Amino acid sequence: MGSSTSGRIRAVLFDRDGTLVVDVPYNGDPDLVRPMPGAKAVLDSLRDRGIATGVVSNQSGIARGLISEADVSAVNARVEELLGPFDVWEICPHSDQDNCECRKPAPGMVHSACRRLGIDESSTALIGDIGADVRAAAAAGATGVLVPTPVTRAEEVRAAPLVARDLAHAVALLGES
Ligand SMILES: [Mg+2]
Ligand SMILES: [Zn+2]
Repeated sequence: MGSSTSGRIRAVLFDRDGTLVVDVPYNGDPDLVRPMPGAKAVLDSLRDRGIATGVVSNQSGIARGLISEADVSAVNARVEELLGPFDVWEICPHSDQDNCECRKPAPGMVHSACRRLGIDESSTALIGDIGADVRAAAAAGATGVLVPTPVTRAEEVRAAPLVARDLAHAVALLGES
């Protein structure tokens, strides 16, 4: 399905909440971090093949005063304890009202991650669980893959260029399984 991207993906970026770990809204507690099924195996497989991995995460709870940057850093450290190290992290601390260039569906975090990795957006994929993730990928010139959860809206599933049933399937669609 879709056009083949085999062999050209050099970096895979992931949304954090609802994609790599179970979504706990505005989570500031590392003890509540639970990986999504298969996440560790998928990441290890990418790392084994020399494909860069990263996280691009909206954390508007910071702007809204619900969690601190330190809380987010503590949760992210727990994510790495459970899932292994990522080559790049991009966090947007803003809310919709801030009109920043980083909050997905804006492409800023994807561009920044690619710049820091030294990898072109055309060789980069972004896997996420909502429409804002695949829209950010498209806006940046990267390949977006949607892995819906039960709370993903149906119209976002219909609009996504690539839809996978889980993380392993998402990577398979990239020709990198
Ligand atoms: Mg998400
Ligand atoms: Zn932002």
